[in-house]
Amino acid sequence: MKCYSGRILFVDLKLGNIVCKELDEECIRKYIGQRGLAASLYIDITTSTEPVDETAIIMMTGPLTGLFGPASGRFQIVSVSALSNKFATLNCGGHFGPMMKMAGYDGLIITGESPNPVYLYISDTRSELVSATDLTGYQAGHTSDKLRGIYGQTSRVISTSGAGELGSPFAALYGDDFPLSGSAGMGAAFGSKNLKAIVCNGGLSISAANSEEYFQLAASCRKTVMEHPTAIALSGGGIEAFHQLREAIGSRRLRAFQEGIDRQSSKQLCLHTSKEEYLHKRIACYSCPIGCLRISAINNGVYQGQGPGSEREALAAFGDCVDNDISSALYCYWFCHQNGLDPAALSRAALATGINTVESLCRFIEACAADPLYVEARSEYSASSFLSYAAQAGEELPQDQDALLAFLESSGICPNCCEALSPENISELIASATGWDFTVEEGLAVGGRILAVETRLLQSSDRTKTIV
Ligand code: SF4
Repeated sequence: MKCYSGRILFVDLKLGNIVCKELDEECIRKYIGQRGLAASLYIDITTSTEPVDETAIIMMTGPLTGLFGPASGRFQIVSVSALSNKFATLNCGGHFGPMMKMAGYDGLIITGESPNPVYLYISDTRSELVSATDLTGYQAGHTSDKLRGIYGQTSRVISTSGAGELGSPFAALYGDDFPLSGSAGMGAAFGSKNLKAIVCNGGLSISAANSEEYFQLAASCRKTVMEHPTAIALSGGGIEAFHQLREAIGSRRLRAFQEGIDRQSSKQLCLHTSKEEYLHKRIACYSCPIGCLRISAINNGVYQGQGPGSEREALAAFGDCVDNDISSALYCYWFCHQNGLDPAALSRAALATGINTVESLCRFIEACAADPLYVEARSEYSASSFLSYAAQAGEELPQDQDALLAFLESSGICPNCCEALSPENISELIASATGWDFTVEEGLAVGGRILAVETRLLQSSDRTKTIV
């Protein structure tokens, strides 16, 4: 199968075993990859495969991940959320997914708990677990620097912070030194397994079944994306600009973000931070012509500095705490990341306590990083566990829109491009990359299957273990 390696790596942290297994072709065809395959494998691993591990972590790429294409760097992480204690599925960007494929694996399944802190090293020639005792307590940037110093600057690193090691339900995961999949407490999922980081180094090429045709289709899609108003807005104004567009169409995911915050003032605040004045640098994920990620900056005053982000929901909640002062809210946002915590989830908890000064917010953040039980942090809210939100709100999951999103999030292309690209475009890319006869109707059928599996996983999540 072109564009798939057809192999996944099984890592049993308890026994220290690493085994390469073939992916079942029928399963690939049914679920395509990324979000779909991850959910399908998760239900197997948490119910029937020995050893059963109800807190397994699965990372899975899509058929287009790592190919030339518009924003084709996506992969999925699924596990139990430390925040909601339910199944969570996170669509992630950066550069790790393509590197995993270049190392020869479509995905990883991680089970068990290591007796000692370890990191996992994966390459196209060897994979091993290495002691991470000397990385204990490191924040993501330090971990990444250290590991890239050992394995080379081209390696890609996913890591958790000291807060993740301690099991904070707010702990984020980082791709190199940038927040990867903030919400859902996935940093604690790593911490609960004594897994500090994963380092990946790959030199294999990834090719499409019909390579010439694929290249032309992908080039045309890139051009379409670059000329589309949403891409231009994203590129210029960061993710906040995209939120403005989503708000206009009443996006349900955005509603989940906005619940409980002052929408009007948060909109003003976030519009301000999307301006050039607060922009230090734009960042793009693998093969992305948009580059919506940013390093923000405050150029003067007491909170002068730089940091990753910013996301609207976190800024808005911190803004509500500090009278919508932009510098104060942005500083708190960065301070969360300096402590390895997800600002989106933590800012909600802070807002609920009624804290209203930067100093007390910083103390609150430090306390949450040091003590996983500092606040009762059980929340349905988390950016990418949108499914939990929909289920809680009593909304029907299997709708065409949701099935389409599930399909698109299984392809390997960033969902932010999917405003510009039609489902037909994505289906054509998949057909050309895989050599299958693949249509939008089949994509929707795939999406429907994914939603059915995820619904089962959510419904059975009361049986999952608490991992904090
Ligand atoms: S649009 Fe933004 S999030 Fe998506 S791949 Fe590009 S830089 Fe990454």
